[in-house]
Amino acid sequence: MVFGGSVLGEMTSNVSDQRLWFSARPVGYRRNAILIYEATEGGAGVLSRIVQEPGKLAEIARAALDLMHYDNVESAIAARNPELLISRPEAHCVKGCYRCLLSYYNQPDHELIDRTDRDACIVLLQLAASTVDQTARELNASVAATDWLRTFAEWHLPMPSTEPLKVDGHVIPLVWRELRVAAITAEYPAEIAAKLEEMAFSVCLLPSVPPSEPLPYLAELLGVS
Ligand SMILES: [Zn+2]
Repeated sequence: MVFGGSVLGEMTSNVSDQRLWFSARPVGYRRNAILIYEATEGGAGVLSRIVQEPGKLAEIARAALDLMHYDNVESAIAARNPELLISRPEAHCVKGCYRCLLSYYNQPDHELIDRTDRDACIVLLQLAASTVDQTARELNASVAATDWLRTFAEWHLPMPSTEPLKVDGHVIPLVWRELRVAAITAEYPAEIAAKLEEMAFSVCLLPSVPPSEPLPYLAELLGVS
């Protein structure tokens, strides 16, 4: 499933400069996850609201179905049945248009985008009937990692692997598995860095706040310097 960046940005906020960006992960053929990060410097708080407000994700999914030119959305959600979605004929949109799913940024995926895709509609209907439930620990880790993901994107570094690494019960979200690189903050116990190095990872220690300039050591490890 592919979302247009502008679509979710508009859905989650009435302010045009509060944008979320999306990348289907992993890069390549089998893309089965969506990485979401905030594009604005310092973050607009949109992403943390999705995580913190249990009904926010459902609201976004409803707005997505509306933007995809569907009526009868509430009945379709109640029955989780995509056949109940009624396409608005006046939209004059077949698979996608620049008013719904297409954007300049998802041009490489335009061939794949289809607002009538049954599986995509089912996922949105399920999300529209869902609530978000997070533990405090996961929330803190995900919010901190999100700051860094936005920074990596600004620095034009490759994005970390979708799946975090677990070391001695600690979740390490910022890992590049194929490059054997991990980035951790000083909040992790010292032995975690040693453990990662034992696992043949090069470890970059991150400062507590992302700096404005790219970290040379990390860029070098990721082959971008
Ligand atoms: Zn359209």
